[in-house]
Amino acid sequence: MESIILADQHIHSLCSGDGQAPMKDMAGAAAELGFEHICFTDHCDLEHYATGKYDPDCLDMGKLLADFDEAASAWGDKISLCLGIELGGGGHMPDRAGRILEELNPDLVIGSVHSFPGEPDFYMYGRRPGQFESEEKCREILGQYVRELFNIAKLADFDVMGHIGYPLRYIKREGFDMDLSDFKSQLEELFRVLIEKGRGIELNTAGLRNEFGRTMPSQDILRLYRKAGGEIITMGSDAHDVKSVGAGIQEACRMLKDAGFRYFTIFRERKPEFIRL
Ligand SMILES: [Zn+2]
Ligand SMILES: [Zn+2]
Repeated sequence: MESIILADQHIHSLCSGDGQAPMKDMAGAAAELGFEHICFTDHCDLEHYATGKYDPDCLDMGKLLADFDEAASAWGDKISLCLGIELGGGGHMPDRAGRILEELNPDLVIGSVHSFPGEPDFYMYGRRPGQFESEEKCREILGQYVRELFNIAKLADFDVMGHIGYPLRYIKREGFDMDLSDFKSQLEELFRVLIEKGRGIELNTAGLRNEFGRTMPSQDILRLYRKAGGEIITMGSDAHDVKSVGAGIQEACRMLKDAGFRYFTIFRERKPEFIRL
């Protein structure tokens, strides 16, 4: 039996506003679990999560590089460590995003939609007017979300699209259990755009360890991506603390195999490498 390489390519550290542990500790936790490869992807949300206003200080590049060096000297001989970024709002401000990426020179860029242009993160939404107030309104917001995915697919510079279905988690928190099945034809078209541009998606396992209970995207959307010809796919726990590092990655491997993938992808210097599942 061949052994599966365990890789977690969505990890936050103290370099993210909501991270709980330094990179060194996150790397140590992954190494102790037997992971061979991880990629740090701290937040760089060009728009502030609470206000939706442009945030010029969304990334402390000096701290990011210093913390990564510290993690590499502590654990670099036990586990392969990469430095990426989770870019939010890259489609709204492509020039600003471009300058950050040029300066950082990351291994992997996850392109995420956490909000609509100029608006707060979906995490901040509640059952307020214009937000997740009814199933009908939620469907409308999901339609707008899918259109926003298109915008970043066309405009932003990234390697994999982050956690497709992100608003569903907060829609469920407000009591509506919904999915993206109404938007399959739009998602098929989105996947064609991504594939044409040589980009992929990620399978994000964060929802498996909270009240959402599902991966992002879910298995049916994963199958849709595979059927559309999608091959580039990373897996990530989206861990913000030491105990979540690597969580759900084995399950994600099973889901990929079930959906017909034979390989998953790791990124180094923004180049995809295919690893047999
Ligand atoms: Zn995210
Ligand atoms: Zn994240």
